[in-house]
Amino acid sequence: MRKLAQMLRTKEVSSVELVQHYLTKINQENEELNAFITIDEGGALQAAHASDARRHKGEELSPWDGIPLAVKDNISTQGLRTTCASKFLHNYQPLYDATVVTRLRGAGLPILGKTNLDEFAMGSSTEYSAFGVTKNPHDRGRVSGGSSGGSAAAVAAGQAPWSLGTDTGGSIRQPASFCGVVGLKPTYGRVSRYGVVALAPSLDQVGPLANTVEDAAILFSLIAGADPKDATSANGEPFKVPNWNREVLRGLKIGVPEEFFSSGLHPEVEQGVGKSLKLLEDLGAKLAPLSLATNIYAIDTYLTIVTAEASSSLARYDGVRYGKRVEAEDSNTMFAKSRAAGFGAEVKRRIMLGTYVLSASHYEAYYEQAQRVRTLIRQDVAEALDQVDVIITPTTPSTAFKIGEKRNPLEMYLSDLFTAMANLSGVPALSLPCGVDSQGLPIGIQIMGDHFQEELILQVAYALEQSLGGVQGEKI
Ligand code: GLN
Repeated sequence: MRKLAQMLRTKEVSSVELVQHYLTKINQENEELNAFITIDEGGALQAAHASDARRHKGEELSPWDGIPLAVKDNISTQGLRTTCASKFLHNYQPLYDATVVTRLRGAGLPILGKTNLDEFAMGSSTEYSAFGVTKNPHDRGRVSGGSSGGSAAAVAAGQAPWSLGTDTGGSIRQPASFCGVVGLKPTYGRVSRYGVVALAPSLDQVGPLANTVEDAAILFSLIAGADPKDATSANGEPFKVPNWNREVLRGLKIGVPEEFFSSGLHPEVEQGVGKSLKLLEDLGAKLAPLSLATNIYAIDTYLTIVTAEASSSLARYDGVRYGKRVEAEDSNTMFAKSRAAGFGAEVKRRIMLGTYVLSASHYEAYYEQAQRVRTLIRQDVAEALDQVDVIITPTTPSTAFKIGEKRNPLEMYLSDLFTAMANLSGVPALSLPCGVDSQGLPIGIQIMGDHFQEELILQVAYALEQSLGGVQGEKI
């Protein structure tokens, strides 16, 4: 991104030209790839003109003024349709910007459009979008991952230089891994959730997707920091892009949890991640085998909590306040009919499951029990991070799967096997492309650190990225 910023500074290129370049790429391919639900040509060009005018007067809002981005379609953008990939909100125009959007507009970044996702961010492939699947730019017969599949595919296909996603159980990291880009899920509370449509408020975080670790760090620095409008946002220092220092690896203790390298992991993913671990060791890091035994409960715990919270978060879609309404003789029937018509199958499944685990007769057996196990998972991660500086695992059990391959919802849920733990414990985690399998599909490596240790995991990722020979996962 430094190069683009410099080209803008030296007036080699204008923001309008940059935006036009990306819009052309999007328009050429969107019918096929389907990374965008809404393309905001008018808004993006208007913002680019304003940026060029500012630069002309020497009044840039930030070094990145004029560089556009794509935004996941569950993040509110004032006056720009925000659908959550649901029929329910197909024409919903938010009245205000999410705090992350306010901050990015405040830094001068034009918004190219809103990217595709699984409906209300529930899923791992974007196949659950009411607007159709987003294809993987590396192999169009395969999924781009999910739920931030559109944001990952847009960056991988060169339709946007960077983008925002959200991650509740892996939705930034898994698509980043499938599409060969960098994705960061920040520490819970480090980025404001104000104006971000809730899936599970105790797990959701917004984060960057980008081509390089540095770009991800820059975008993260623009959105991170306390927000009085979000009661769960953490106080503390804003994030500054660090001076990169590859010496960080010398003596660094890397925890390698055995549970993440057992059966269920595709051998080629294991090999790819293994090579990177070896490389890190050669560069001076110390590998420490360890156990994160509670990970076998991560998916069950995650699903119990995510469905419980989702059933509550989605109660507001009742045909009265937002979106779709199906008229009926009385209000209860109107609620029921609107919800039946507006939500897709996966959303209904989760609302039913969540209502069940929260019901008076089952609350203790499921929801309360899941909260207890969540505490054990947090402790497990905390104890591991007392012994080591970072934990490294594969991001996903396999590379991108074929469209239509996972018909059983349970199989789909297993996509989050290695990512859910970071959400349950609130720690930051990043996925970095670390090579490709024999079919040319990107493999992702996950780096987890302690709360608020984004700088360290970014440093480690940067050092590994450089040692792997720069940007991995060939760009299309
Ligand atoms: N795949 C996970 C799910 O279906 C993650 C979703 C997310 O992170 N938004 O819940």
